Amino acid sequence: MRIWLLRVCLLVAVPAWGQTVAIRAGNLIDPSNGTVARNQVILVKDKKIVAVGANVDIPKDTAVIDLSKEWVMPGIMDAHTHVTQSVRYFRELDHNYLVEGTGLRSLRGLHIAQILLNAGITTVRDIGNDANFAAVDLRKAIDAGWFVGPTVQTAGKIIGPFGGQSTGIPPEQGPFWRYEYYDADSPEEIRKAVRENIFYGADLIKLVADNSPYHYSVDEVRAALDEAHHAGRPVAVHVLGGEAADNVIEAGVDSIEHGFFLTDAQLQKMKDKGIVLSGTDFPAAHFEAGEFDNATTLGASIVDRLKRAYKVGVKMGFSTDIVTDYKDENRAQMTWDYLAVWKAAGVPNAEVLKCMTTNDAELLRIQKQRGAIATGLFADIIAMPSSPLDDIESLRKVDFVMKNGAVVRRPQ
Ligand SMILES: [Zn+2]
Repeated sequence: MRIWLLRVCLLVAVPAWGQTVAIRAGNLIDPSNGTVARNQVILVKDKKIVAVGANVDIPKDTAVIDLSKEWVMPGIMDAHTHVTQSVRYFRELDHNYLVEGTGLRSLRGLHIAQILLNAGITTVRDIGNDANFAAVDLRKAIDAGWFVGPTVQTAGKIIGPFGGQSTGIPPEQGPFWRYEYYDADSPEEIRKAVRENIFYGADLIKLVADNSPYHYSVDEVRAALDEAHHAGRPVAVHVLGGEAADNVIEAGVDSIEHGFFLTDAQLQKMKDKGIVLSGTDFPAAHFEAGEFDNATTLGASIVDRLKRAYKVGVKMGFSTDIVTDYKDENRAQMTWDYLAVWKAAGVPNAEVLKCMTTNDAELLRIQKQRGAIATGLFADIIAMPSSPLDDIESLRKVDFVMKNGAVVRRPQ
């Protein structure tokens, strides 16, 4: 029953429209360059930051939030997650479509989205497996102000070669995976699937390139890119490595999701072409608990690939791909478990913070709205009592969250 507990604080977070709020930020982190400015004032009005600096005057009768002992930074983003899905074991993923409907999955999406926001994750990119567009409705409900939640982008249904991400399904069961996937097996079918997906509300397009023995060609990936880009949407592609990854990189997608087995040469080509690695760098313990095949080996491969990607200098986003329950942790606690993987790969804390904010904002194409504390941007602001530049695990102690200028939680 744990997952259905309501968080009252989230339900009373009302945006203070018309009222100016001043935040005294003792230590203001700029994650785009890892610098810290001391004793700053951030003025917030009508959801947005209207001034920031050391010499900003606080107008009379302004409500002041004192974070002078805290470390303040923009809200965290997750560029690859699935808030409507949660199972005990990875093998249950397609079974999940058969036992839970769109309504229940939508409610789970809201519940998890609020847990993430409460922990400081103010933007999520829900990248398919969303129960027949449940995440579109989640986004609409939050945008309408019915519920407090993070900014949500959604990929709608995942587009892939016949079979979605199911395996071993007997023919008499029928293509039940179409609840969450479009089967698209030629450039024409891919174009149609992209259009239909955007029609039903997708903010981006997600392809699965190599979940089967067959995989997408360069021309097929280019068809998706052509349609999506003309509609102003980026294309994210699930691919692990090998020839399928060569095709995806050659086509020039916006981001590669997972990429656990990418070679240095492939990473270098991604860097040259400006393709972002959205690495979903799972902790081995999560794989093991979810009984994923070869969990320990795969966990080690991920640390190695993350280390190599950082060395090559490919642009990286922060992303999780959490779809399972793990022990008694909630989805936010599970997200912070990924920090140890980045640490094990030797990525500096400042770079991790940049991936979680600046880089993800660019990948999501919202860098002019979110991802920094700067005049004109929406006020998505978090704070914690110790510096994440010194210890990245400080993010677990986020005790202040502001979303679109409204306080979601504050230090007790
Ligand atoms: Zn995923």
